[in-house]
Amino acid sequence: MARLGTGSLMQLPQCTPQSTGGAQSTPGIRPGGIGDMLGEDLSLEAVYLHVPFCRHRCHYCDFYTLAGREDGMEAYVDRAVDEMRISSHRFAKPVSSIFFGGGTPTLLPPPLLTKLMDGVREYIPLDEDLEWTVEANPETVNDEVAQVLAEHGATRISLGAQSFDPSLLANLERRHDPDSVGRGVECLRNAGIRHFNIDLIYAIPGQTMQSWETDLKEVVLMNVEHISCYGLVYEHGTPLTRRRDRGLVVPIEEELEAAMHCTARNVLGREGMTQYEISNWSRPGLQCRHNLVYWRNGNWWPIGPGACGHVDGLRWKNVPRLSSYVDNSGFPAISAVEHLDDDGAVGEAFMLGLRLLEGMKYDHVEALLKRGTRGQVRLAALKRHVTGGLLEKTGGHIRLTRNGVIQADTVLVDLL
Ligand code: SF4
Repeated sequence: MARLGTGSLMQLPQCTPQSTGGAQSTPGIRPGGIGDMLGEDLSLEAVYLHVPFCRHRCHYCDFYTLAGREDGMEAYVDRAVDEMRISSHRFAKPVSSIFFGGGTPTLLPPPLLTKLMDGVREYIPLDEDLEWTVEANPETVNDEVAQVLAEHGATRISLGAQSFDPSLLANLERRHDPDSVGRGVECLRNAGIRHFNIDLIYAIPGQTMQSWETDLKEVVLMNVEHISCYGLVYEHGTPLTRRRDRGLVVPIEEELEAAMHCTARNVLGREGMTQYEISNWSRPGLQCRHNLVYWRNGNWWPIGPGACGHVDGLRWKNVPRLSSYVDNSGFPAISAVEHLDDDGAVGEAFMLGLRLLEGMKYDHVEALLKRGTRGQVRLAALKRHVTGGLLEKTGGHIRLTRNGVIQADTVLVDLL
């Protein structure tokens, strides 16, 4: 699956907490989980459920996921449903978004996927206008899976296409037939699913501008409402990064990567899609509600091993280990917890808020600059980037310019 960022700094995986500094963090494993650190009736907007299974591990991926562990799926589902049961009294109001990410949620056999989705409906209060996204690997979608998703409440499917060029998929060690993306969308549409995201990756070793344009044209033909385009990141410890370090893989030039981002902006813009976040385009009013909760620093509850949550400045991560997850009961042990101090919270507010192309309200920015110890430093950085053309003030907001979007890392690191 893909990520929420474009450049080297701004990778904010859905299941990994991102420290912005200024945090009081607790390393090591905390066996009691989050249960005794938070009260009940929390103002939660969303739930992220992590399904840690994949058919094969792609070489660029650093998410917590296991290949060849079908034997653990049933115990995982039972445990996840039990985790929902014990979490149920934490919700003060219905949530507006459920997100099944991974891993590959659609790798679960239909009866287990059904059980997991029934658990959500039984234990989590759901808004009538719920967005329920399920990530899918195209090769795992068939009529039966599509039927289960549609009948049990999924409203939106996010398909990881990444590229339509078999040689580029091979460079990523990503094993799906490019034609399976179109077949998957058709299956899902026939079952009644109406909303789709498709993920693409650019700056893949060996990729040319021509092949990137072809990928964009392919995805446009599918007429979906939401497209995510992520620049490839060489994550620490992945096979792809090791191959790069041994000289077996040559990253493409930064200038070409930036040009690919601009091409996405031009091609998708011509199709009537609006870039509303550094890596995300949608048709009007059809942004990903779940990711907006992340970028607006909202509160969400995590379920499953490796999942992360956030409530009012407290961030935590469930231990990413299936065996300990299924062998224990109660709230899962957590491997990291952090509570941001003022400086950390301000840095995070800039890091998340400026990712959205609408920017941040200037009165909010002014309030942030009064908090913490780095207000003057941040104010100077804001002025410098406005003068340098990477930020602009417009309509009561401060936001990244078109050039600023390409160089977002440069801006955001100065505001942490
Ligand atoms: S399918 Fe997605 S989550 Fe699974 S290994 Fe590949 S990139 Fe990672």
